[in-house]
Amino acid sequence: MTSLSTASSLSYASYFTTIKKRFATQNTNDGNDNDNDNSVIASKEFSHLENPIADDAENFLLLMDSRPGSLLTTFKTMSINNDDDDNDDTTTHNDDDDEDYRETPSLEKYNVDWTGHYRGSSSIVVRPKSTKEVSRILSYCHKRRIGVVPQGGNTGLVGGSVGIGGEVILSLEKMNNFECYDKKDGSIIRADAGCILEDLQNYAAKNGNLVPVDLGAKGSCQIGGNVSTNAGGVYYYRYGSLHANVLGLEVVTPTGDVLNLGYDPVSHLKDNTGYHLKHLFIGGEGTLGVVTKVSLQCPPLPVSRGAMWLTCTSLSDVVRVLTLARTDHLNEILAAFEFMDRDVLELVRAAYPSIRFPLDIGNVTPATTINNDNIIDPYSILIETHGSDNNHDREKLESFFESIMEEGLVVDGVMAQNLGQIEDFWKIRELCNPATAATGKCNDRTMTESFEIDIISIHLTLSF
Ligand SMILES: Cc1cc2nc3c(=O)[nH]c(=O)nc-3n(C[C@H](O)[C@H](O)[C@H](O)COP(=O)(O)OP(=O)(O)OC[C@H]3O[C@@H](n4cnc5c(N)ncnc54)[C@H](O)[C@@H]3O)c2cc1C
Repeated sequence: MTSLSTASSLSYASYFTTIKKRFATQNTNDGNDNDNDNSVIASKEFSHLENPIADDAENFLLLMDSRPGSLLTTFKTMSINNDDDDNDDTTTHNDDDDEDYRETPSLEKYNVDWTGHYRGSSSIVVRPKSTKEVSRILSYCHKRRIGVVPQGGNTGLVGGSVGIGGEVILSLEKMNNFECYDKKDGSIIRADAGCILEDLQNYAAKNGNLVPVDLGAKGSCQIGGNVSTNAGGVYYYRYGSLHANVLGLEVVTPTGDVLNLGYDPVSHLKDNTGYHLKHLFIGGEGTLGVVTKVSLQCPPLPVSRGAMWLTCTSLSDVVRVLTLARTDHLNEILAAFEFMDRDVLELVRAAYPSIRFPLDIGNVTPATTINNDNIIDPYSILIETHGSDNNHDREKLESFFESIMEEGLVVDGVMAQNLGQIEDFWKIRELCNPATAATGKCNDRTMTESFEIDIISIHLTLSF
């Protein structure tokens, strides 16, 4: 497990797993029965997978109708046109001999994950624009025994989105159309997997709705990546997990088959019929296939929002505060409960010296270098409420604060007076991950294992 010192959120406790997975496109049966136990195989070498070569790059291009920008590669390819106007991090250039060879010298953006720690060695990035193209690519890789790593916004933090064995990266970034299923209230969004979460949030907000998942990486992560990691996000307490909010998915299996799992037509909000195979892909991290489309229910935007910043001295006090918030006091209006330890807030302070904490008394230098009075309290909590009546919610927050103070559970606290202050609280929370990455603390993690899954037998199960 991780030795990472970071924001310890009760609502997303499990995503710092250190397991590195690969998305193998072939059955693992190499003739040895012991190898073929239809289960996760840890630390196995991937010698049965082929490394992609320049010919494969050419073929990928053809599979995507030689569309400009559909292929990025470090191989020299006879591409018809590899130009891409929005490809700013990678460059394409003509070969000297004036033929139409193109190559992309750097695939840095795709080979290095958000933390900067996990580095892949892929020489081909395919960027399909449709489900059909995804299907063609996976079918081709399956026949050629080439490994594939699906990639969304590359913000996963655990290295799952980069190809450490030189696999082909299948980036979903070109699949980014979305629409409202019910135009009247916009409460169901149907989106391609490559849509950026924040774009969907803004769109839903214009229609008076809220995308029920929110996280610090919203400006880069994609809805397909969110589904594939079963991203918990900060509003988990109020709206539940993506298992509760995804109505349907379209996925492509490693053999290239397209499965419609309640995507079209969109499953009803209350659908208690039969099996719901979509749940296998929510949190599947690309091991079972590529998510290409998502339909998502979006609750109404809250009419009133409140927030409070508290500090505690012990973890057991934090847990007690959470229990009281969830049960006796805030109950149905509790939307978010995030806690941050002193270590991570010190990292934030060090990386962003101008940041002001809600309970700061003046400009405090890093806590370790000064006396006790100025040390950040061991645990800080950010609570957000969503409701429909400002006065009512405010009264609830005040009475909650009084009782936790009376019980001696918190040292101090402050309530946001307006939306701007709520955003300021969140800004601190959202800086925890960048601060951790900036100070290199992410690198404390070690990648322990690779594993692969016998997708053929899973596929057979899915198509019974
Ligand atoms: C600042 C910051 C804050 C964060 N906060 C949270 C948080 O609050 N809660 C939380 O849960 N996570 C959080 N994360 C982690 C991360 O943002 C989420 O896991 C996010 O859902 C990943 O989405 P992505 O599009 O970047 O996926 P990627 O990182 O690109 O991929 C993640 C995994 O999903 C697979 N994958 C991606 N797209 C697809 C697809 N279409 N089909 C199949 N497989 C696919 C990849 O192969 C990889 O295994 C945070 C990250 C950062 C940087």
